[in-house]
Amino acid sequence: MQFTAQRRQVVEYGRQMARAALAVGTWGNISCRLPGNLMAITPSGMEYEALEPKDIVIMDLEGNCLEGECKPSTEQPLHRAIYAARDDVGAIVHTHSVYASAMAAARKPIPAAVEDLVQIVGGDVRVAAYALPGSSQLGSNAVAALAGRNGALLANHGVVGVGTELGQALLICQIIEKSAQIYIAAQAIGGVVELPQEDIDIMRDFFLHKYGQR
Ligand SMILES: [Zn+2]
Repeated sequence: MQFTAQRRQVVEYGRQMARAALAVGTWGNISCRLPGNLMAITPSGMEYEALEPKDIVIMDLEGNCLEGECKPSTEQPLHRAIYAARDDVGAIVHTHSVYASAMAAARKPIPAAVEDLVQIVGGDVRVAAYALPGSSQLGSNAVAALAGRNGALLANHGVVGVGTELGQALLICQIIEKSAQIYIAAQAIGGVVELPQEDIDIMRDFFLHKYGQR
């Protein structure tokens, strides 16, 4: 079996996504980029707790399955489109978390109003134009909404978070969910006040270049 370490990671983060209640049942999907324009992606319709590394499907970015006993996630065109368009993306997590999905169902972007969101996502969270789940149109719509961002909402559907590695992509989905909760709660007390672009740029730069033990 090739890419065992990466397959293990995809399994591990799939479980974390399910345990964090970002997806219910077998929905949501996770992938990471592999050397040689390949990706490792979760299989279609399998419980996260039951997944094993051998269930993770290895695909190329043209859509050919190279290794794995299962069918890949039906959202594999979304993952392929993002890897093809974004060299900076090493991992993708797609979730159906409740508050972010409420925003997506209302087709309302999450404004840039809290620090962690603008640091890790890069600004507001746009809503990708509606397209059927599993379609390649959904992939190109998501790529457009992700321009200059590390996360987007998918209209009437859910969230996509993209990062350099799986831990970051999952964290992005969690921060987007938290920001959606904050936005909806703030609407009850007069609405959020958006951050000025100048400050967003400072916070984003800090996160990209100076955050943590650097
Ligand atoms: Zn979905």
